[in-house]
Amino acid sequence: MTDQRAAAGPAAQVVVVGSINMDMISLSKRLPAPGETLMGEAFAMTPGGKGANQAVAAARLGAPVAFLSRVGTQAHGRELLAALAAEGIATEGVVVDEAALPGIAVIMVASEGGENSIVYVPGSNADLAPADVDAGAALLQGARVLVAQLEVPVPAIRRAFELARAAGVTTILNAAPALPAGAELLPLTDWLVLNETEAAQFAGLPAGGLEEAGQAARALLLQGPHQVAVTLGAQGVLLCEATGALTHLPARVVKAVDTVGAGDTFVGGLATGLAEGMAAADAVRLGQAAAAIAVSRSGVQSAMPRRAELAEEL
Ligand code: ADP
Repeated sequence: MTDQRAAAGPAAQVVVVGSINMDMISLSKRLPAPGETLMGEAFAMTPGGKGANQAVAAARLGAPVAFLSRVGTQAHGRELLAALAAEGIATEGVVVDEAALPGIAVIMVASEGGENSIVYVPGSNADLAPADVDAGAALLQGARVLVAQLEVPVPAIRRAFELARAAGVTTILNAAPALPAGAELLPLTDWLVLNETEAAQFAGLPAGGLEEAGQAARALLLQGPHQVAVTLGAQGVLLCEATGALTHLPARVVKAVDTVGAGDTFVGGLATGLAEGMAAADAVRLGQAAAAIAVSRSGVQSAMPRRAELAEEL
């Protein structure tokens, strides 16, 4: 590992294939009614998308990360690329499309009550194709972990997972959103990660508490993954291993300020731990420790901790 890092920059240990968006967020006292124009109180533009979020989470925790994606450079696409580079994430696997818009999420938040309304335009994320993944295939040589979510087309993820399997790279599928089309990836998945709502949807079983999460995890395990981690918000994680054995790993009690992006921080931490060769439960704990810090701060990428901040937690 050290030898690779000494050469021309570190070889990516974690490769993330997925979405990247610009989130455009307005704050107003309440949400506007149809046809209404309201005066806003604040505006912010921040990089997002589950793929980019998870890449940033892993990079902050010290993993050498490469991103496989597609970004339109109209509107604010170039800023998205610059933001990845500023985190030390390798971007040569990102296909730049001068003719397209990047993914954009227009988010309206009410300052009184916190309700929100979101319009998400996938832009270039919807165009990620297997050929784009092939163009970045070299990134998987020497990588330890490949991470994907379901915000880009399944054929591209399938291609990445096939290449990963051939190269002996551990695959993590974060089945968010829980699109039925993602099920075809399960035979190529080592780790399946989803929250309890997604687990129920993906397994076609009722949602509920710990017991239901366990049932969903065991049902999903039969479709191919070797480990299923169901995240339960403040209740932590239910880990289901290949034997069907279930372990509940409680979350640290923190004062939650903003839980948006908790799952992305968790996945980035899990990927980092696995890339470092940690045992399953230890890698889950690393993800949980990072997520516990992230939820205690506002923002998504801006709330993700650096490795040194985790020292006390672990
Ligand atoms: P998602 O954001 O995908 O819905 P969760 O809400 O389940 O995911 O959160 C992912 C992980 O983040 C949890 O398993 C837990 O370890 C941690 N986490 C989330 N919310 C809290 C919280 N309020 N306190 C402590 N840890 C939390």
